Amino acid sequence: MALGKDSCGVFGIYHPDAVELTYLGIFALQHRGQESAGIASGDDDSIICHKDMGLVSQVFNEDIVAKLKNPFAIGHVRYSTTGSSIPINAQPLVAEYSQGQIAIAHNGNLINAPLLRHKYEQDGHIFHTSCDTEVIIHLLANPEHISQPDPLAHILNYLQGAFSLVILIPGKVIAARDPFGIRPLCVGQIDGYYCVASESCAFDVIGAKYVREVEPGEIVEIDSKGITSRFFVSPEQREKENIHPAHCIFEHVYFANPASYVFGFNVHTTRFKLGNQLAKEKPADADIVISVPDSGRCAALGYSDYSGIPYARGFVRSHYVGRTFIQPSQNVRDLSVKMKLNPIRDSVVGQRVVVVDDSIVRGTTTRSKMRALRDAGAREIHLRISSPPVRWPCYYGVDFPTTGELIAHDRRVEEIRCFLEVDSLGYLSLDGMLSCMELPSDHFCTACFSGKYALPVDPQVGKFALERKQMHLF
Ligand code: AMP
Repeated sequence: MALGKDSCGVFGIYHPDAVELTYLGIFALQHRGQESAGIASGDDDSIICHKDMGLVSQVFNEDIVAKLKNPFAIGHVRYSTTGSSIPINAQPLVAEYSQGQIAIAHNGNLINAPLLRHKYEQDGHIFHTSCDTEVIIHLLANPEHISQPDPLAHILNYLQGAFSLVILIPGKVIAARDPFGIRPLCVGQIDGYYCVASESCAFDVIGAKYVREVEPGEIVEIDSKGITSRFFVSPEQREKENIHPAHCIFEHVYFANPASYVFGFNVHTTRFKLGNQLAKEKPADADIVISVPDSGRCAALGYSDYSGIPYARGFVRSHYVGRTFIQPSQNVRDLSVKMKLNPIRDSVVGQRVVVVDDSIVRGTTTRSKMRALRDAGAREIHLRISSPPVRWPCYYGVDFPTTGELIAHDRRVEEIRCFLEVDSLGYLSLDGMLSCMELPSDHFCTACFSGKYALPVDPQVGKFALERKQMHLF
């Protein structure tokens, strides 16, 4: 069984209505994961949990939320590669060890989890899931680590890769973020109580105000006395090991909700600027600009704004079909694209159309969309992408397919244009994309576009992942 890679949403809070607010919080984070959902709640003594496969609205109802009633709660929505989409991997993970009960919810991908797990398994440890997150519990339970002055800070230094964590122990919610700050995590405040969430859109829904980011390398603790902070990576260690922020730029390009503040700045504003920059770099002679809903909408508005070409509605999107990207077979994926996106014939017929989308990954769903547009009568299709070609896999938690399946990995733009059957194709440049961010360029991980990874990927990691896969074949 290969270890699961997760692009997820997490939430945590201390509040008299903690469970209801967590339910709403993970509801607002549903775009970050639609495979499973879970909430763990607790008081000063114990923890209970409910989780299952499915959307938040399918996993929870009024009765379940009422049964979970407690002042501390954490929640999780999960989106993984299809191989590990099994109920046992739903989060929060709950365990009992020598120090008592613990629940953990994780967004990100620990690149050294297979190695750590292999070592523990050699020592006779038993794992219950195929989630990389489970190694954190084994690290915490290690007697050598428990005897450290700050066991959590100590063990977080063993983890490599991306982690935005929310942890629940009796009487406390703890949040921690990896030293590179790869995935987002922020702090909010409601009625004088504190909460944490992957994205600030979760605060909007519950009426909390955005306070700040959880800093890279920071541990934040929330309990009945308020909020405290400490760092598990010292400034000296940062300097010595050249640890710098490496925020995932794809959060701003595609993953996050446009209403959110991610890494401290607004996602819609960024995407609008990406659209402006795209129009500047890759102009088109056309009658209308349309977007692929919903991912391309903000950038399409930006493209129209800069180019002066009117924005029109070209597709209607059905919100009742799941994400097409994660459907296992190509046939099913093609079908669900048709169900999901319906071109508006009257808008596009006879028109020269600029279509804006945020990214092309495999290219297959994009080709179906372009065909649908052509069938609806579009005269010319000029496809514009508000990020550079996705050429490299992500090891830090965005679920891209393997290198071989990435259409841009070894193809030139002209070859991709032919495959997509469009009249012209233009991607935004890497520098152009970085110029739209409100932080310095070297504060971002652009590995999927540039191949430059924040952390060297240990060849051993691949070795152990592969061994595990083979083991399960027999
Ligand atoms: P495709 O043409 O099959 O490469 O699909 C491209 C579409 O997938 C774009 O509209 C993107 O918004 C969307 N997309 C990009 N990355 C992901 C991801 N990691 N998970 C799901 N959808 C994605």
